[in-house]
Parts: sequence; C-alpha cells; structure tokens
Amino acid sequence: MQDSVFKGALGFPKFKDLKNCPFCGSNTFYVRQHAEGTVIFRFCPDGSEADNEDMYNTVSLTEGINVYCDNCQRFIGNRNTGKLSSGAVKALCDINSKQ
Ligand SMILES: [Zn+2]
Repeated sequence: MQDSVFKGALGFPKFKDLKNCPFCGSNTFYVRQHAEGTVIFRFCPDGSEADNEDMYNTVSLTEGINVYCDNCQRFIGNRNTGKLSSGAVKALCDINSKQ
C-alpha cells in the first residue's frame, strides 16, 4: 500500500498539507517568476570573474502564484490562497480511495 501523499486533517485539502505531488509523488514544486532589470557582471583583465555577489540586486522579481510540480509539470494550485487545483484534489481522492 502506498503512503498517503496527504498529511492534513479531514476537510478541504490545502497546498501546505501536501507532502508530495498527488500526480507523481515528487516533493518539489515551482512557481514561475518574472525577472526584469539589468545585471552588471564584473571581471578582471585576465578574464576571471570578479566579485559579483550583488549582481542580481538590480533585478526585480514578480512572484508567480500558480504552483506546478517540478517533476510532472502538472498544475497543483494557488500559492497565495493555498487552494489546490481541481485536478490535484481529484488525484488525492483517487489515491485515498485506493487505500
Ligand atoms: Zn508531479
């Protein structure tokens, strides 16, 4: 019997209650972030890289809210509201009904 991918109590499942992707079992997810700005890359006369620790400080990021699985790329839910997609909820129900 497969371990449940859901660790939450009974009730409507939220993204934070997931342990794994309900479609494939992966435990990493991603959101798409939009980056905008100019990056300054510093280097030495010999071509070697200089200190570029602050090179991304001038880039502004707009955080995405749609969460996707890092492995199967399926849509999981909304990061801001924590609400799972209808497909993810259905996949959770399918897993739970097999246990
Ligand atoms: Zn997945």
